[in-house]
Amino acid sequence: MIVMKFGGTSLAEAEDIRKVTALVRARLPEHPVVVVSAHAGVTNELDRLARAALERATGIVGIRERHLRILRELDLPADLVEDLLRELESLLTGLSLVRELTPRSLDYVHSFGELLSSRIVAARFRHEGIAARAIPSWDLGLVTDGNFGGAHPQAESWPRIRRSLERVKELPVITGYIAKDRDGNITTLGRSGSDYTASIVGAAVGAGEIQIWTDVSGVMTADPRIVPGARSLPRLSFAEMSELAYYGARVIHPSTMIPAVEKKIPIRVLNTHAPEHPGTVVLDDGPGEGPAVRSIAQRRGLTLISVVSTRMLLQHGFMARLFDVFARHEVVVDMISTSEISVSITTDSKKDLTPVVRELSAFADVEIEAGKAIVCVVGEGIRTSPDTAADILDTLRRAAVVTRMISMGATGINVSLLVAEEAVETAVRALHRAFFGS
Ligand code: ADP
Ligand code: ASP
Ligand code: MG
Repeated sequence: MIVMKFGGTSLAEAEDIRKVTALVRARLPEHPVVVVSAHAGVTNELDRLARAALERATGIVGIRERHLRILRELDLPADLVEDLLRELESLLTGLSLVRELTPRSLDYVHSFGELLSSRIVAARFRHEGIAARAIPSWDLGLVTDGNFGGAHPQAESWPRIRRSLERVKELPVITGYIAKDRDGNITTLGRSGSDYTASIVGAAVGAGEIQIWTDVSGVMTADPRIVPGARSLPRLSFAEMSELAYYGARVIHPSTMIPAVEKKIPIRVLNTHAPEHPGTVVLDDGPGEGPAVRSIAQRRGLTLISVVSTRMLLQHGFMARLFDVFARHEVVVDMISTSEISVSITTDSKKDLTPVVRELSAFADVEIEAGKAIVCVVGEGIRTSPDTAADILDTLRRAAVVTRMISMGATGINVSLLVAEEAVETAVRALHRAFFGS
């Protein structure tokens, strides 16, 4: 059994869905389970409509026309998704009446993207003679906590999904990204979460491989939108991919690695528009052959919090007290560095940090700076190549990029640097040139 996950860019238009049908057909002997995202751009549009509903009543003309056009071009009946479109319309009307958008209702609105696309894809498969069935992930038993906008799957999901899929005779076309909590409320796994659904399903059924079909030929040496000359990597280790995903390589949602690592299932990243390309296989193994540095990722939108205290730092319990504040306010901390009298911490939290600053100010001087980014250089070989960190700093110095923080994780396979957001592209390009040429 394999999992084949198709991202929004692989399902953007009717012609893409035809390609996907051919790809799946060719792999029927491997017993695929298909996981789909919404058609490209639909989740963003739903998000926009939900927020606009707070100001005025909104129609769903764009969403309706987009889906009806895809249906028409795929020779599918126009009323295939009418019930979903009507429900979405009523929901938006309701939101515009109460003028209130909670995280829970936002997830409900977002869920229509995958409900619509899974139905369309399954119907097209059937149209081409493949017995397929659209299945909302909750019908398989995917249950999360109630953390709307970034829900966590609960342990009972795995055996339930396995048992449910054993009973499905057709080819399952499962909704990515969305789930339900134990009370039956619709949740989402966080933006780009369909990758995560794919690995949850893969781990549940013990798949031989989890395939992530996207619009690039595998994981590359850098984000090709920043470095047009970035090259595709034939293989990466689980540890390398986890670091890259966590530090912003959008090609895989960061949580995707967790179930795959646990069950040691290889992930293969493939290109729907160039399926003959071998893409990248992510495996549970060590460094292998090749250069120390494998890839460079970046993550924007970070805030730097500097905590300075001459009184407390050398006393035991200071760090515990400091991090307790972050823990209680549920603010996730990314990068940490300390000096004799200061601790620097970064977070990508979009929460209001005022209460955190207020509490910290009771025992230290606190400064906050938004608009930061992390650039992360990843490779198993970094551990045994002592020059890499020096080369990174030297490269950034020559590119006139100011580095505010630097950290090397305990596994020794990444070097992360905090820079100003405006400098992030210069930094990535300079590092790419230094480690990969051109
Ligand atoms: P999908 O619709 O398939 O989920 P995404 O847009 O979420 O596609 O992810 C694919 C995109 O990830 C690529 O188009 C590319 O711009 C971006 N990306 C960022 N970093 C990398 C990287 N290191 N390798 C490949 N793609 C990357
Ligand atoms: N459709 C969702 C999003 O745009 C999930 C995904 O694409 O993986 O975030
Ligand atoms: Mg994605």
